[in-house]
Amino acid sequence: MRKNIVAGNWKMNTNLQEGVALAKGVNEALKNITANCDVIIGVPFTHLAPVNDAIDSSKLGLAAENCADHKSGAYTGEVSAPMVASTGAKYVILGHSERRQYYGETSEILKTKVNLALENNLAPIFCIGEVLEERENGSYLNVVKTQIVDALFELSADDFSKIILAYEPVWAIGTGKTATAEQAEEMHAFIRGVLAEKYGQEVADNTSILYGGSCKPSNAAELFAKPNVDGGLIGGASLDVESFMGIVTAF
Ligand code: PEP
Repeated sequence: MRKNIVAGNWKMNTNLQEGVALAKGVNEALKNITANCDVIIGVPFTHLAPVNDAIDSSKLGLAAENCADHKSGAYTGEVSAPMVASTGAKYVILGHSERRQYYGETSEILKTKVNLALENNLAPIFCIGEVLEERENGSYLNVVKTQIVDALFELSADDFSKIILAYEPVWAIGTGKTATAEQAEEMHAFIRGVLAEKYGQEVADNTSILYGGSCKPSNAAELFAKPNVDGGLIGGASLDVESFMGIVTAF
């Protein structure tokens, strides 16, 4: 059966020393509880190797926030999937709305990144979600389906089963405006149906679908109680040990 997962996305926050201290704080806090979910932190590239050295990887997973759409070569400033994997990270966040919006990441580019991640044994945490206008004009289900179909549906069932999905309505990211538990459940159940049509019920049932968008300790339990919400991708609230743990313990 699918895993419950709480994953942090630190974005472009913390310098190296602050990041290692935050990772150590989460690692320590996890020693004192029995988490009912897998816990992952997504950190800037510069932090990956030192954070990997500072944490117990059997208790706390490590993710990059992106990887390049090429394996190696003359792409100044880029960081490849093999480079990410060589740090000890096991996951990579791909398709975050900020990457789509500010860096022009299309489904075609994301398809390549997903393939490179999988070739390098990195599990993609693949983000999808509609903007406010699409929510309001009623096209949101279709928008999210298209994002999934275009970037992921050429994968074999075996490869697809390594993907973690994160539904993140763009209007809820960093805005303090959370989707209601009912809105999240509607979308997550819809996504699971789309997966079942393509890959069968077993693959669909085994896929973790996380919710992201202003998730915090005060609303996490209600969201996670929904049958198709398998955890959260957490931005702002992952930058503080207490608030991140407040979400981890919401399961
Ligand atoms: C995110 O960026 O993935 C996110 C969910 O951010 P926040 O929790 O800050 O809305």
